[in-house]
Amino acid sequence: MTLTFEMSTPLVDHGHAIREWSLACVRPYARIADTQHGPPDNWREVLDSCPVAISRHDRRDVEPVPDFTDGRWIKELHVVESLTYGDIWISDVQGQGIGHLVVNLTGTPEQIQRWYRPIVDEGGQTAFALTEPHFGSDTSMVATTATRDGDTWVLNGTKMYCSIGAHAQYVVVFANVDKSLGASGIKAFGVAKGTPGFIVAKANEDKLGIRSWQTSELLFADCKCNASSLDVR
Ligand SMILES: Cc1cc2nc3c(=O)[nH]c(=O)nc-3n(C[C@H](O)[C@H](O)[C@H](O)COP(=O)(O)OP(=O)(O)OC[C@H]3O[C@@H](n4cnc5c(N)ncnc54)[C@H](O)[C@@H]3O)c2cc1C
Repeated sequence: MTLTFEMSTPLVDHGHAIREWSLACVRPYARIADTQHGPPDNWREVLDSCPVAISRHDRRDVEPVPDFTDGRWIKELHVVESLTYGDIWISDVQGQGIGHLVVNLTGTPEQIQRWYRPIVDEGGQTAFALTEPHFGSDTSMVATTATRDGDTWVLNGTKMYCSIGAHAQYVVVFANVDKSLGASGIKAFGVAKGTPGFIVAKANEDKLGIRSWQTSELLFADCKCNASSLDVR
């Protein structure tokens, strides 16, 4: 059997068309997006001008990116690389976030039905809250706690740098259920926007770089969530 690491010609061509468009139509807004810490106000028009299919969280009436023989993840990687070739701000407004992908990878069939399917079928954005003020790379340091109280889990802690954190329909929050278990005590919990105790402390953090990509600081203060909808394993 011969292994090849080449992408198929149709995928390469699709990516090339996106990349050329990104260079011509996205890059001119790079400075303004960096200066105003967010995408240009006309981002929808810019997305509308793309000559080939790209997925959109804000529009369900556009053609999805076609399937290629390369498989889903190679396609997604190549499309995102090509989209952001001009500048990264475009990915912030085009993508759906990654919270629902965590549910799809690790959730039970019921959790996938409740948290993943509606985002894929109807659109919307989801967030992923792992990073905290005292750690980034070392994900074993999660200090946010989840305490069982009858039919609920009660979350307490602070998360930083959450992409789409202020706007997402829900956030997948990583919290520790039992610190004596170390890293294996860390579980993921789906928390819907508007849940009491889920507070957007800072909608758009002031970063040193990648400033056009909006990230949020989120607080969980005795945030109660129904046990049946949580604990994505
Ligand atoms: C635009 C943006 C969006 C983000 N979105 C999200 C999000 O949606 N959800 C979320 O939870 N977080 C998010 N983050 C946070 C991101 O995951 C962290 O910034 C990342 O994990 C790195 O953590 P840190 O910034 O604390 O850097 P550190 O962990 O302090 O790392 C600093 C440097 O040290 C290196 N380093 C760290 N540990 C080691 C080691 N053991 N050995 C060798 N080198 C090491 C790193 O590679 C890096 O170069 C986002 C960040 C940015 C900038």
